[in-house]
Amino acid sequence: MGFVKENLEMVEKEIEKACQKSGRNRSDVTLIAVSKTKPVSLVMEAYDAGIRDFGENKVQELVQKYEEMPKDIRWHMIGHLQTNKVKYIIDKVCLIHGVDSLHLAQEISRQAVRHNLTANILIEVNIGGEESKFGCRYEEAEKLVKEISLLPQIAVKGLMTIAPYAAKPDENRGYFVKMKQLSVDITKDSGNNIDVGILSMGMTGDYPAAIEEGATYIRVGTGIFGEREYKQNP
Ligand SMILES: *Cc1c(COP(=O)(O)O)cnc(C)c1O
Repeated sequence: MGFVKENLEMVEKEIEKACQKSGRNRSDVTLIAVSKTKPVSLVMEAYDAGIRDFGENKVQELVQKYEEMPKDIRWHMIGHLQTNKVKYIIDKVCLIHGVDSLHLAQEISRQAVRHNLTANILIEVNIGGEESKFGCRYEEAEKLVKEISLLPQIAVKGLMTIAPYAAKPDENRGYFVKMKQLSVDITKDSGNNIDVGILSMGMTGDYPAAIEEGATYIRVGTGIFGEREYKQNP
């Protein structure tokens, strides 16, 4: 058995454990295998093990893998998306996780209209307030959700966050609790006109806590495919 399949079995056990601990159904949590920087040959091992949700953070890499891999894959754009690149992925992804400005949402809406589809998006919230991270401020999230929901052919489905680096799996639990509450509050305040029930949070270092606090999508890369190697700039 290859190491990807082995890793996936370990991750699956952890997911089930976290679901049990928190009284959630396994079917309410979707594992996104984050395949960025990894070759198609390796990523296909996850596909062959049954994974159908994959996440990429770069437009060019997503498009390339989209072309080369089976067509029943649900591709998630999890990275920061530049406005001028929306057109390359709009008809290839099932969910855009990192929307943090009205400007970007307007372009997504425009491209969705042009391609005659509805774009599903998540609003990225910078829950740790880190300067190095993308995402809107916690206090801005509700206003942004409301504004973007008015745009044509764009559906705000939920919230996404990249929590601070966690040295211990439990360190980000407080942030996950805050995200869950924010999603409940925004949905309630809108009189259920807007449903931001999808919560994309939790990565290799902290996904069990994220599940216990309400994540519906977890994004796991290293825990499935191993450490990433980035080419050094000369
Ligand atoms: C790379 C990445 C992940 C996966 O991180 P790991 O720590 O390798 O699991 C998750 N979410 C986003 C947005 C990423 O860019």
